[in-house]
Amino acid sequence: MKVYISADLEGVAGVTHAEHTMRDGKEHERARLLMTEEVNAAVAGAIEAGATEIVVNDSHGTMRNIIPEKLHRDAYLISGTPKPLSMMEGIDETFDAAMFIGYHAACGTRNAVLDHTYAGRVVSRAVINGMELGETGINAAVAGYFGVPLVMVSGDTAVARQARELVPGIVTVAVKEAIGRYAARSLHPEKAQALIKEAAKKALTGLGSISCFEVHPPVCLELHVNNTGMADIAELIPGVERIGPRAIRFVADDYLTVFRAMRAAITLAGETLQ
Ligand SMILES: [Zn+2]
Repeated sequence: MKVYISADLEGVAGVTHAEHTMRDGKEHERARLLMTEEVNAAVAGAIEAGATEIVVNDSHGTMRNIIPEKLHRDAYLISGTPKPLSMMEGIDETFDAAMFIGYHAACGTRNAVLDHTYAGRVVSRAVINGMELGETGINAAVAGYFGVPLVMVSGDTAVARQARELVPGIVTVAVKEAIGRYAARSLHPEKAQALIKEAAKKALTGLGSISCFEVHPPVCLELHVNNTGMADIAELIPGVERIGPRAIRFVADDYLTVFRAMRAAITLAGETLQ
């Protein structure tokens, strides 16, 4: 059994602020260790469920957060950026299941720790085939494109709720409950890790009962950005249509093409912040 893990940082127990999540944040060193330990818990649960190969993709910011020598020795680590599939780099049709650790809710979610979608300073809404999706949905659909089901998500209560709305039967772990965007009531990290291990084991043991989250063609992305200058740049991409002062649309027949266009649009739009 091959298991794919995408790991983010905002949804890790104890993390509430940019001081944890930014590379130069005062608490970043501590936060990346907590992130590594939560990933290790998921890896341990996967091994108990019979996983024979586990690939972990570091999916936060610089994508160089997980501490290699502290990572479970039986997992492969993909780190660094840019990567063609970004938060889903390394996924393909040979995997049996995907799990998301340390995830957070979509931008615009109330009472969600550090809610955002791919680039907090750029994206205000991402709508795909009429569904408003955050990173959980956008990335689950990449796994779904390859026929891989998303079976487990950990993060705060808000992302856990959004994952359950997206994927019936998915196993979720809420390691904290937001009190606002920058505050939360969190489980102790060790307790969170124990729950993640059990959830990973349970999700992979029940494999087959959870279906893939797939976005069927034609795939239409509507991307809403934070200002008109960002849309001015994003609409330069061939095939992109301007549908509003701060919104663009892109349509293609396969999800991966739309995912790549979305990443290109966000990256270009972000250039206006430089
Ligand atoms: Zn994220």
